[in-house]
Amino acid sequence: MTDQPLSTIPGPIDPPRRLLMGPGPVDAYPGVLRAMSAPLVGQYDPFMTATMTETQELYRGVWGTTNDATLLIDGTSRAGIEAAILSLIRPGDRVLVPIFGRFGHLLAEISERALAEVHTIETEWGQVFTPSAIEEAVVRVKPTLLTLVQGDTSTTMLQPLDEIGEICARHGVLFYSDATASLGGNPFEADAWGLDAATAGLQKCLGGPSGSAPITLSDRAVEVISSRKKVEAGIREPGDPSSPDFVRSNYFDLGMILDYWGPRRLNHHTEATSMLYAARECARLLLLEGRDAVIARHRRVGAAMLAGVEAMGLRVFGDVSHKMSNVVAVYIPEGVPGDTARAAMLEDFGIEIGTSFGPLHGKVWRIGTMGYNARPDAALQTLVALEAVLRRFGAAVPSGAGVDAASDALAGS
Ligand SMILES: *Cc1c(COP(=O)(O)O)cnc(C)c1O
Repeated sequence: MTDQPLSTIPGPIDPPRRLLMGPGPVDAYPGVLRAMSAPLVGQYDPFMTATMTETQELYRGVWGTTNDATLLIDGTSRAGIEAAILSLIRPGDRVLVPIFGRFGHLLAEISERALAEVHTIETEWGQVFTPSAIEEAVVRVKPTLLTLVQGDTSTTMLQPLDEIGEICARHGVLFYSDATASLGGNPFEADAWGLDAATAGLQKCLGGPSGSAPITLSDRAVEVISSRKKVEAGIREPGDPSSPDFVRSNYFDLGMILDYWGPRRLNHHTEATSMLYAARECARLLLLEGRDAVIARHRRVGAAMLAGVEAMGLRVFGDVSHKMSNVVAVYIPEGVPGDTARAAMLEDFGIEIGTSFGPLHGKVWRIGTMGYNARPDAALQTLVALEAVLRRFGAAVPSGAGVDAASDALAGS
């Protein structure tokens, strides 16, 4: 065996300094990165199992729930979505998906893969659904499961969920929500709002890296999941129920994952230790600052960013009264080359802002103020850079107007 020539071996990882002000991922809290460098322990080390239990309790606080079944799925947010949908849907089940952006389409697509009979209703991008529109569809479709995004980053809209659980309960429908973009930056009350399942990720308002998906499941959801268990000789105990419609994924079989996180600690995959540390630290920091205080910080800094871009003369996309606190979409001014200007933000100022998808592609930028970056200094720096870049590309932006308006908003709140 010959050694690789030294000149072809890259140096240690050394990323450029960035300020990530897009719709996610965002910079992680420094404490989260420190937690990830903590030493590893074995899968059944008492420290490991205690840390898992501790993390479950922390996330009950984050979700606003007393659900026993509150845990992490290893993988990005989409892993949590797949685990929830694959485990809750039996082939042929009717599923209702109200779609108000890109991630609603994702819920419909994953439901199709789960062999559901998928029914969708759609609203224009930039709007949300009224509870009565959802109830009308529930009555018409009679689904077993309603899947609904809370905050769709593609449009920045926040779907109100507080009346939906009651509608679902009245019609005997399970209620699942993808709260990836919104959790931690906007109110979420899993129990008070009647959620049966909800999933998230770390890389938005929770201020961690992508790679772990917090999930919480009501007792009703756990009953459905438990009724679909598959007997596996040598792993399952004799007497475990075996169902012909068991979940057709091993990795995302929530029944097995629940047995791994539960008191029996039955072996499934090897919990991603460093991601567990990260997820634990995200929740710990949120609860230490206070859940309401973190939400208020997102609201305050988000309002300052909104005031700033409006004062610069930028037109904001969508129904602002239903916007998530942590992200805003602005129309790219006439004549400004969107991609080139965005590249200048990154290359000249080290600041990343977001592009857009689907019908908004090339039309709006999305600017986030979330997690660790929901800070006045991060918002003000972004506005300064944005003004300079817009002006360089010929937009008539009043000098200092964005920063002044944002500072006023921060001072007044
Ligand atoms: C950002 C986002 C995701 C991201 O999923 P990943 O698998 O972590 O990339 C999912 N859902 C919503 C609503 C999001 O905003």
